[in-house]
This record gives sequence, C-alpha cells and structure tokens, in this order.
Amino acid sequence: MSAVELPRTPVPRRGSAGRRWSLWALLIALVAALLVTLVWLAGRYEASQVQSKLERDTADALGDIRSALTRNVQTLQALQSGAPGTTTWTAEAHSVLREHREWMRLEWRDSAMAPRAAVDTPYRGAVFARLGRPNAHADVALACANARRVSGPAYSSSYFVPQLDGLGLEVMELCLPLVTAGQLTGYVVATYSLSEILGSLVGPQLMRSQEVSFTEADGTRLAMHGSARRGSRIFTSQQLLDLPGNTMVLRMDSWRGAPDLFPNVLTALVTAMSIALVTVLVLLGKDMRRRLRAEHDLADALAFRKAMEDSLVTGLRARDLQGRITYVNPAFCAMVGFPAEELLGYSTPAPYWPPELADEYQKRQDIRLAGQHAPPRAGFESVFMRKDGSRFPVLIIEAPLINAHGVQTGWMSAFLDISEQRRVEELSRASQERLQATARLATVGEMASLLSHELNQPLAAISSYATGSMNLLRGGPHAKADIELAMQRIAEQAERAGKVIKSVHDFVRRRDQEREAVAPQALLDAIMPLVSLQARKLGVRVEVKVQDSLPPVLCDRTMVEQVVLNLARNAMQAMDQAGAAQPSLAIQVRRTGGAGRDAAGKGWMEFTVADCGPGIPEDVAQQLFTPFFTTKAEGMGLGLSLCRTVVEQHGGFLGFEPNHPRGTIFKFTLPVDPGAKTGPA
Ligand code: ADP
Repeated sequence: MSAVELPRTPVPRRGSAGRRWSLWALLIALVAALLVTLVWLAGRYEASQVQSKLERDTADALGDIRSALTRNVQTLQALQSGAPGTTTWTAEAHSVLREHREWMRLEWRDSAMAPRAAVDTPYRGAVFARLGRPNAHADVALACANARRVSGPAYSSSYFVPQLDGLGLEVMELCLPLVTAGQLTGYVVATYSLSEILGSLVGPQLMRSQEVSFTEADGTRLAMHGSARRGSRIFTSQQLLDLPGNTMVLRMDSWRGAPDLFPNVLTALVTAMSIALVTVLVLLGKDMRRRLRAEHDLADALAFRKAMEDSLVTGLRARDLQGRITYVNPAFCAMVGFPAEELLGYSTPAPYWPPELADEYQKRQDIRLAGQHAPPRAGFESVFMRKDGSRFPVLIIEAPLINAHGVQTGWMSAFLDISEQRRVEELSRASQERLQATARLATVGEMASLLSHELNQPLAAISSYATGSMNLLRGGPHAKADIELAMQRIAEQAERAGKVIKSVHDFVRRRDQEREAVAPQALLDAIMPLVSLQARKLGVRVEVKVQDSLPPVLCDRTMVEQVVLNLARNAMQAMDQAGAAQPSLAIQVRRTGGAGRDAAGKGWMEFTVADCGPGIPEDVAQQLFTPFFTTKAEGMGLGLSLCRTVVEQHGGFLGFEPNHPRGTIFKFTLPVDPGAKTGPA
C-alpha cells in the first residue's frame, strides 16, 4: 500500500546470465566471421588483381611475339628480294642472323626443296651438327608444302634437336615461298629456337618476376625462359599462339612469396577497423556490465528500503513544501485507517485531523511551512482521528526532507501511536496513587499512639483547667478573672489539639496532583508537627537548616512532604533501634552547585536528612529501594521505594551516603521553579 511504487526488483536468474553469455559469444563469433570474411575477400581481390595483371602481361608478351614474327617475315622477304646469287645471299643472311638471335639457321632452297645455301647463327655451334639436317627434312617439307598452299609464310610444328653438348633445343621451322613473277622459285627456311623466341622477342620487363614458356595443348612444356622462384602460391595464365601451320600455348607463371597476414592496405584497413570494432564492443560490454551491476545494487537497495518501510511499526509520512502528502508507509495507513490513495496529494485539513482541533493544527502547519519554527527534535504530541472517528494520541517527530542537491523539498515525519503507552502510564499513576494513599494511612496508623500521646497533653490540660474552673466557681464570684483565664487556657489547649488533628487530616486528605512552586521552608513547616510528635516521643533533637532566600521548587507538594517525612521517620526509628546516646536529626535544604543546573539554567535544590544512627550495612544497602524490603518487624518496606519514585518523577535523584562519625545521610534533589527570580545560590 506504499505510495511510492517501488520498481519490482528483477530477480537475477541463472538463465538470463547464460543467455547473455551466449549472446556475447554469438556476437564475438559474428565479428570474427566478418573479420575472416573481409580478410579473405580482400586477399581474393588482391589475388584477382595479380591474376588479371598476369593475363595482361601474357597478352602483351603474345603481342610482342606476334609482331616480332611478322617483322621477321618481312626481313626474310627483303632478304629474298635482294638475293639473286648465293654469295650475296649468304653474306646478307650472316648479317641478318647476327641481328636475330632467335634464328638458328637460314636456308635457301630451290623449288624442289634442294638446298642452295645455308647459314648458321654465329652465336652457337651449328644446330643440326648432331642430328644431321636431312633428319629434319620431313618437318621442313611439311612447312613448305603449307607455305606453297597458302602462298605465304608457314610454320612447322616444333621438334627437339639434340645438341653436341648433350643438351637439346626445341625448334620450329618457318618456310617462306620465293615467288618471282607469279612463279615459285624456291623457299627461304628459317629455324627458330623456341627458347630464344621467348628470350629475345618478349620484353624483358614482362619476365622479371615471372616464367614464360611455350607448351603444347596438353601442357607438355616445350621451352621456357625466366626462372620461377617457387612461392607458396603460383598464378598461371595461358594464351594460344596461333601461327599458320602451328599452334602453341604461351604460358606465364607468376608467384607470390609467403602470403602476408595483411596482403595489402585494404586488408590492413579492414582488419584495423574490425579490431577497433571489437575493442569498442568489449568496452561497451564492460560499460554495460558496470551499468547492470549498478542497476542490481540499486534494485537491491530499493527492495531493502521497501522491506524496511513495510516492516516498520512507525508510521512515515512525507509532505512537500506546499503541505501535500507525497508518501505514506503501510504502518501510517494502518494507524489512521485510511488507504494510501485517500491520503496522497491531500493537503489541509488532513482527513485524520479531528475536526475540533483542525484550526489549531492548521495554524501549527502554517507556521511550520513558513519555516519560522523548526519542529522540536524530541518530537511533539498530537491527537489524530482514525477513519472510524476514534481519537488516539501520537508522538510526531519531524525533520526536513533534503534532496541529493541539498535542497529542502518537504518534510518527513515519523508517527508513534502512544495510546497504549498512555494507558499504561495512567494505570501505573493510579496504582501509584493508591499505594501512596495506603502508605500515608499506614504512616498515620503508625503514628496513632504518638497522636494519642500528643492529644493527651492538651486533653489533660483541658481537664485540669476545667476541674480548676469548677472549683473556682464553687468558691464564689471573686474568682471570675481566674475562671476567665482558665477558660482561655482551655480554649488554647483545644485549639492545639485541633491543630494536631488537622495536620494529620491535611496530610491524609490533601491530594492535589498539580505541580506548584513551593518554598522549601513551607514544605518543612507542613510536616514539622508530625516530625516533632515522634521526635518528642523518642527524645530526638531535631535541627532544621534552610538557606536564606531560597527560590521555590516546582513539585507535587503532598508527595514531597511525604518523602521528607518518610526519611525523617526512618532516621529517628534507626537511631531509636540502635539506642543512640544523643539522637539528633538534621534536616537541611540548600541549592546545589552549577553541575546540577539543567537546560533552563535554574539548577536544583538539595534536601538532606542526616541521622547518627547505626548506618546502613552493605547487604541492606543493595536492596534498600526494593519494594517490600524491610528490616523492621512492623515495617512495610515501601517507604524508600516510594520516595525514589516520587523524586524521579520530578526529574531529581535520591541517594544516601554514610554520615560522620556515624549514621546515614539521605539526599534528594528537586528542580528549582524556572519562573522564580534567581536568588543567591
Ligand atoms: P520501612 O521503613 O517500612 O522498613 P523503608 O523502605 O522506609 O521501609 O526502609 C527500608 C529499610 O531501610 C528499613 O527497614 C531500614 O532497615 C533501612 N533504613 C531506612 N532508613 C534508614 C536509616 N536512616 N538508617 C538505617 N537504616 C535505614
């Protein structure tokens, strides 16, 4: 029923923690997968870049070879046109061979394929020295047959020619028909070395980092140039070199060294960004964990607060600065019998104010809200009304409500239902009163014999004066003056007896509860007749010392009188029982020093009753104030316990200490009337 609806505490479950972890794991896995994919894609992109560059290089190389072969055909045609005689031809062929390393041999043949002249390259030994030229005739013949048919240059397929040094050469024949005035006059046959084609006709920049080779369609390698540095990854590109009469594959192999972790800038960038992303995620996660923990702590604190408020028996109520109720706890609702909904937002008059007191409460609240008067720290008492109309007393303790910024936002009040406490107080007061009345009667009962002794004297005097008067009356008229005197004495004695009786009557009857300001002397005067009665009987000398011009004390007069009387009586009885030689009782009143001053600065009055009796032994001292403890046969044991209760009800203190050289001093204090003018202390 609390007004402030506290948020429900999320009960931390094992399941949710597990789910959170699996979510985290999934997220991390996703990020890792993304990272790997990105790196892989970047790597692939780079590989495709390398591959397409290789394709371009291969196409370039192929282009180089094709145009060089075409130029070579033109060179041969020039050679043919300027070659009427073999000698000149041979000389020209020599110079051409010097310029073209790819040619191994140039031959001039007649139309029947018979050799007319032949020149070998100057750069190496004759290529057919070991094989013998006739053994290669079939290839030459095939190429020339082709050439004749197409009336242009034609190539033979490549073949292997073993060399004198034990190695060999893959060669290919080019046959160019010589035509003069439409008539075939012969052929020029050029023998190409395939590896020299690669070495001389392909631009050197294309071969710097790659291996170029000619292969057959099935992949058999015919010739190669450049050396492949074997890396872990080889890129390959193949393109067809389609020549009249021969088709070969130009193949380029490129390699990359050990694959880099960050193959290029893009990959590195992507990786760096991914790492940054993961870092941010981790930081976010940490932050979230911190927040979650704080949230849990807060929820715990709120739950704790709610449990505490719900279990409180003290009513709690908060009001804003306008006096509107902003919060009540369940105990408050139970106390006044209104549900929280009927109280919240309520200003004045509050539904639990008794109508007859509403005006007073309103004034009190106005003063409070105007901030002119801080509520008393010890709280104040008030009367509230339950929903059923019944009234009950409450103790209200109020304090300003300060928010986190130190600004007052209202008032917080705690309420204690003190009806039960009041009932108990009332009960104990009534029983106390009964007890005191009984004790007073007991005192009087005890004093009955003293009383009879005291009354005996005036009565005896009255009787003797009466007898004397009667004798005088019988004696004659001259005794009128004496009789008058005797009558006067009789009246005086009767008055004295009446006073004695009245003092007892006063003592027993007087019962005004009020605290009043009483002069200490007046207190003593009231009980002195009773004290003197006993003192006279027991032969005790009584000494009363009251400081001059003492201020009055604030007390319940009858009760305090009884206290002094009890102490005096105890003292006299103790001295009598001990058979003291010169029993004397000293009653003193004085102001105590600064130490006893209370907040009002008025201080205390100290009453002492000292005797020279036997003193109080240790075992008796321990139980002295226990009700019904007595060492006397006819004692009730209530006197001292009542005395202490009375004195403490006045806020004072009752104690005792040994007297010197013997006896006991009982002391008690009473507050000085705060309204009194301060006299000399
Ligand atoms: P009662 O007088 O009925 O015994 P009290 O409570 O007045 O009851 O006293 C309790 C006991 O304290 C007495 O029985 C007595 O033994 C002891 N007592 C009280 N006053 C004195 C005193 N002045 N000197 C010695 N003993 C005392």
